[in-house]
Amino acid sequence: MWPIRLRRLLEVRKRLVLNDTGPLRSSTRKVGGIPLHELGIMIQVVKTVEKFAMENGITKIDTLVLQIGELSSVIPRYIQACYPAAVDGTLLEDTKLEIKIIPGNCRCFKCNKIFNYIKNQGECPECGSRDFELLSGREFMIKEIVAC
Ligand SMILES: [Zn+2]
Repeated sequence: MWPIRLRRLLEVRKRLVLNDTGPLRSSTRKVGGIPLHELGIMIQVVKTVEKFAMENGITKIDTLVLQIGELSSVIPRYIQACYPAAVDGTLLEDTKLEIKIIPGNCRCFKCNKIFNYIKNQGECPECGSRDFELLSGREFMIKEIVAC
């Protein structure tokens, strides 16, 4: 088993970044218990991975690794829940899904403190300012696939 770091897959990341309407939105529309939002995204991910695999002569995949920011509008447990449906009948059928969470970190404009957005409820723990830049946490990307 050898992990492949997929530079080309990472390039599609921008297309997969979701609407910027704000963090912590939850998916509410569901069909048969499967959230449509996440299912649609995972179908795109599967297509991207299949295309990459085909172009690179990969015929068997063991694990798909995704990175999801904790402030992304994508909810990891929904991604897990819809994975079997999204990969059904594809090259990714019977593969494992691994999700790595990227923390939502901010840097305070006032005092430069770096802090976690969720743990501090969007307020700098050092000076109390709510004026900050978001450093990470909105990501949604395919990190790598592990081929058999
Ligand atoms: Zn501060």
